[in-house]
Order: sequence, then C-alpha cells, then structure tokens
Amino acid sequence: MEDRVVLEELLQQSRAYSAKGKVADYIPELAKRAPNSLGITVHRIDREPVSAGDCGTSFTLQSISKVFSLILALMDQGEERIFNKVGMEPTGDNFNSMVKLELVNPGKPFNPMINAGAIAISSMIAGKTPDERFARLLAFIRTMAGDDTIAVNSNVYESEAATADRNRSLAYFLKHNQVLEGSVEDHLEVYFKHCSIEVTCRHIARMAMILANNGVDPESGQKLIPRRYVQIAKVFMITCGMYNASGEFAIQVGIPAKSGVSGGILAVVPGQMGIGVIGPALSEKGNSVAGVQLLQSLSARWDLSIF
Ligand code: GLN
Repeated sequence: MEDRVVLEELLQQSRAYSAKGKVADYIPELAKRAPNSLGITVHRIDREPVSAGDCGTSFTLQSISKVFSLILALMDQGEERIFNKVGMEPTGDNFNSMVKLELVNPGKPFNPMINAGAIAISSMIAGKTPDERFARLLAFIRTMAGDDTIAVNSNVYESEAATADRNRSLAYFLKHNQVLEGSVEDHLEVYFKHCSIEVTCRHIARMAMILANNGVDPESGQKLIPRRYVQIAKVFMITCGMYNASGEFAIQVGIPAKSGVSGGILAVVPGQMGIGVIGPALSEKGNSVAGVQLLQSLSARWDLSIF
C-alpha cells in the first residue's frame, strides 16, 4: 500500500486520542495551540517526504532541540568534556525535576535530555557571546532541516523567558555547583531560544532522516555529523527521549525518538527514515497522546521496532 494511504488511515484512527490529553500551558503562549490537530511527515532516505493531516501546522521545537544542542556541543567539545559535566543515565523523573540534582551526584545533571542537562549543554556550545552560540545552533538546525528561513517564534521565546522560574532555579543550582560557568541568564537565553525555534513536521522528519542516515545528508552527500555522535544521540533518545515514558515507548514503538511540550515528536528509524509528528494535546508525562498512538500503529504496520 502506498505510504500516503497508510499515513492517512492511521492518522484518522489516532485523531480521537487527542481528547485524552491537554495542551501545555505552563508556557502561556503554548496554550493557544489547537489541541486536536494531528500531522505527520515520513521522510525515507533518498525519497521525497510524504505527509498527512495537519502537517503544515507550525510548532516550536521545545525539547526536540536538546538532541541538536547535544550533537553540536559534542562536535565542539568532544565526549570527554561533555560527559564530565552531564551524565548518561535516565532519571525516571519529570523533565524539569530537580530532585536528583541534589540527592545523587550533587550538581551533575543525569543526562542531556532533561532540562538541567540541556541547559548545561547549551552553555558548552562554542561561541563568545550568547548570540554567537545561538546563531551556530540555528545554522546547524537550518542545514539539517534544509530550510534557511527557520527562525525563533519570538512570542513563545518571550513567554517562556518571562515565566521560567523553575528552569531559572535549576540553572542557578547548576552554577552553584560549577556545572554552569559565567552568566546564568546568558545560558538561559540560548536555551529558551533554541526551544522556541519554529518548524513543521517536514522539517523534523528531514532532521530525523539525516540521523537515520548516520549523519549524512543524502541530497548533498555531505557528512553533517560524525557517526559516533549520531549513535550517542540515538541512545539518549531511546533511554530518555520520551522523558519518564521512555521505557513504555521503547516497548510499544521501539524507535529512538524525542518529544517536546509543544506536542512535536522526532523519530528515527535507523537506515530507513525520519518521522516528524505534531499533536499538541499531551499526556501527564508531557508527550503528544495522539502522536504516540500514531507512531505506535505505524511501527506495528511497518514493523519498525529496532528491537
Ligand atoms: N522549553 C521547555 C522547558 O524548558 C522545554 C521542555 C520540554 O519540551 N519538555 O520547560
């Protein structure tokens, strides 16, 4: 059956699941999104992308950006320096939890996919000023997505920057423990900005497709990311990418993925394809309910689990 027909069929079956979720509202600007919109793009390596549903809906990367800040920081600093500051283990706690920051390994965030870890990682992107660090990350994301016009949604950025008391407290705690150096507000600015980069499913499907192709852009033939760092990113996606629902997702869907509180999910089927999904209504653990359902039925239909 043609990809487009399969996507349409499974998307229609998954739509109703949005009713079980709720749009994130702790960043006020995110609360304006239509809860039951649902869209998907599948980008097979060396093929044209195929989309269904509300795939033209734009949304902000939010935590999906953590995969790319990690990769860029790894390319800038190397593994040793990165993992000296941030760990490699899942937490089993919420993405913005601070519990383990104090109790275990004081100050060292468990992994780069939770907020504390991602804020530390943002500070390790090379660049003299926050503007320079952010510009380098934006350029990297534009290249991965194949679109030079991608930009920050300034309403979402300002909304998050104005309400981020929890992320601020995490960041100051990191500074107290010498994980963050220099200006905390500068590092938060870079973090909030990369969370606020606006994309569509097509963009994230292409980014995922390049990860599925071990870091090589099949259009240009260019190696954008060393294979080792793609491997590291995929490991974090499987173990921590869906926050404290990562184990369940690995069982039900079985592919490396990263979600964000805007309702986006980027999923990588190694050697085959990248998938981008948007569905703003979230489960309690912060993942798109209809989006996860759609990926689950697609994984079953096409036998995508890597396990
Ligand atoms: N910008 C969001 C935050 O820091 C990202 C969180 C997420 O997508 N889980 O709270």
